[in-house]
Amino acid sequence: MSAAALDMIAKLVGFATVSRDSNLELIEYIRGYLADLGVDSRLVPNTDGSKANLFATIGPMVAGGVVLSGHTDVVPVDGQPWDSDPFVLTENNGRLYGRGTADMKSFYAIALALVPEMLARGLARPIHLALSYDEEIGCLGAPAMIRRIAMELPAPRAIVVGEPTDMRIVTAHKSITGLETLVTGYEAHSSQTHRGVSAVMTAARLITFLEDLAKENAALRVSQTPFEPPHSTIHVGTVHGGTATNIISRECRFTWDMRCIPEDDPQDYLQRFERYCRDEILPGMQAIAPEASIVTAMRSSVPALVPESNGAAETLVRHLTGYNSSDAVAYGAEAGQFQRAGFSTVICGPGSIDQAHQPNEYIETSQVDACVGFMHRLIDAQAA
Ligand SMILES: [Zn+2]
Repeated sequence: MSAAALDMIAKLVGFATVSRDSNLELIEYIRGYLADLGVDSRLVPNTDGSKANLFATIGPMVAGGVVLSGHTDVVPVDGQPWDSDPFVLTENNGRLYGRGTADMKSFYAIALALVPEMLARGLARPIHLALSYDEEIGCLGAPAMIRRIAMELPAPRAIVVGEPTDMRIVTAHKSITGLETLVTGYEAHSSQTHRGVSAVMTAARLITFLEDLAKENAALRVSQTPFEPPHSTIHVGTVHGGTATNIISRECRFTWDMRCIPEDDPQDYLQRFERYCRDEILPGMQAIAPEASIVTAMRSSVPALVPESNGAAETLVRHLTGYNSSDAVAYGAEAGQFQRAGFSTVICGPGSIDQAHQPNEYIETSQVDACVGFMHRLIDAQAA
């Protein structure tokens, strides 16, 4: 295994860039590393300046570049049974353990480790790095950077998003729509159920409606879609509501998401939900308390990645990996956002998605080697 790649993976895993915290220490480290090599970076900060995207160009500022894209944030480790410190890279038996080893610091750590080689080779066409924040909480950071890339960089020919695919080529992912529903009822003593409107019990009915909708959809769909599962899904992840057993609850809030195959429009499901609220649920609530309400807000929306016919990114990555087939994945990623902005995009990166978000997350060293080989062939392609 390349010592420089191993060192850089260890360095990046050492920054505990959980999405709720700042990523600036990691960003400043990468900016400093690139600056020492004579490569300028551009930062795209969030509104309060606590996080930033970074993009940088190695090679000439000309069209035909390849963007290597990754997210700097990782999911939390709270409550997970880790056998080693998640933020200290630990090598054991052909595996590198640490949060972010698979999802997805290794991909761009390897690219960063090879920047000296890219510079020494003298690229004819550039390799761009694009590192985002807040991917894990709804791909919130990347859109502002993608707009800057579209405005400021000469048109790249391909985007490679290095989410873990075992270095296989992924040309399709589902869309993700993240939502939050707030049910406002009316408080009363729990012995006086005819005088109050329970937000918690109303939320339970709404959640059951969503589950029924998801089941009905799963049963109806007969599809050739390559996704697993082969249909759109709806899932409620958190519920918070009520203050005491003997108080009819005033508020209940739940968060949910829809992950839709490209041929399904999430708006259709949302409209059915809204219609159910308006026609079946709200009239009964408001007969007791006119101010009762159900409000649903969209928290995030990531478009699906759709297979391109003769896509430049797929053609390039087939050449670089030697794979002739392409896959679809159920998880969402920033790839759909790049594609929606007009860029030819695929996902291809080292490590397995099975390891992502798990305790004792790891990447096989053989995957690191495979990614180093991929980067060498990319350098060859951009030097020619
Ligand atoms: Zn990821």
